[in-house]
Amino acid sequence: MIIVMRHDATKEQVSAVVSQVEAHGCRTHLSDGDERTVIGVIGTNPFALRDLFIEAPGVAEVVPITKPFKLSNREFRARDTRITVGAHEVGAARPWIVAGPCSVDGEELYLETCRNVRAAGAHALRGGVFKPRTSPYSFQGLRGDGISILREAKRETGLPLVCEVLEPADIGTLADIVDVLQIGARNMQNFPLLSEVGRLRKPVLLKRGMSATIEEWLLSAEYILSQGNYDVILCERGIRTFETYTRNTLDLNAVPLIKELSHLPVIVDPSHGTGRRSLVTPMALAGIAAGADGLIVEVHAQPEVALSDGAQSLTPQAFAHLVEQVDAVAAALHRTVGVR
Ligand code: PEP
Ligand code: MN
Repeated sequence: MIIVMRHDATKEQVSAVVSQVEAHGCRTHLSDGDERTVIGVIGTNPFALRDLFIEAPGVAEVVPITKPFKLSNREFRARDTRITVGAHEVGAARPWIVAGPCSVDGEELYLETCRNVRAAGAHALRGGVFKPRTSPYSFQGLRGDGISILREAKRETGLPLVCEVLEPADIGTLADIVDVLQIGARNMQNFPLLSEVGRLRKPVLLKRGMSATIEEWLLSAEYILSQGNYDVILCERGIRTFETYTRNTLDLNAVPLIKELSHLPVIVDPSHGTGRRSLVTPMALAGIAAGADGLIVEVHAQPEVALSDGAQSLTPQAFAHLVEQVDAVAAALHRTVGVR
């Protein structure tokens, strides 16, 4: 449930309510709005405590949140969450564009790709060093060697890094260098991993599981938020359907639906969402038109030699064209603020 404080409630009144809630064995999460403070109360049956608080000094109302996801719910926080990554505010009007190869598969090509996507206007770099591959015989990522290449790419371009973490043991090493930790589709319900990144104070990009419902996805976000890390960016990356011409079916319904249900930013991955290079730009534009806060796009300087996902990787030239078109769609929707 949420306890909505009166707009003139004092700090002492807020603290008194928080202490009383916690004394009853529930956890609290504060949302400080411009107008009023909302206290999220998490516990097994918090609404049983309603009568204790309804008359408490400074309290305006006590409202149950009927959906199972609580802290990610728009009822908890009406305003869109904005997350600072490098120079960009994810969740503000301007689309956030992350680009780079699926995996860091060699120093020269990776750095060349990064220079190119930066020149084209990307705001952050991607590149996996621990790869979750369906087959154990496929390229698994460069691991430690990949991390030094990521460090070099960040130094050369000045751009923040988004990189997938596969298991809790790697969080520390990656968190030292990476700006956003990605939880991949296959790990969306790896609850120990979610709780562990929830204990960090670093943004998390949470991809939707390939067969996950939107509610399951938001509940996975809840695992992170409930540990105190509120900087979660959701990513729609396509779901499994009967269709075989595409790798996945990009569920763009999810974008405006998430905006209704949640205050968290949501971006679109048209690369894994389609699996086909020719479909990436049209679906990227559709994602932005549907209201996505950004895109994560696979780009490779030489897609034909990429060690993973070459077939869905754009060339740097095609990516530059995508960025121009995204800018045009964003401008048409009045989503540009100043110059890029
Ligand atoms: C990736 O981003 O390279 C990736 C493995 O994506 P997903 O988890 O969405 O399959
Ligand atoms: Mn990939």
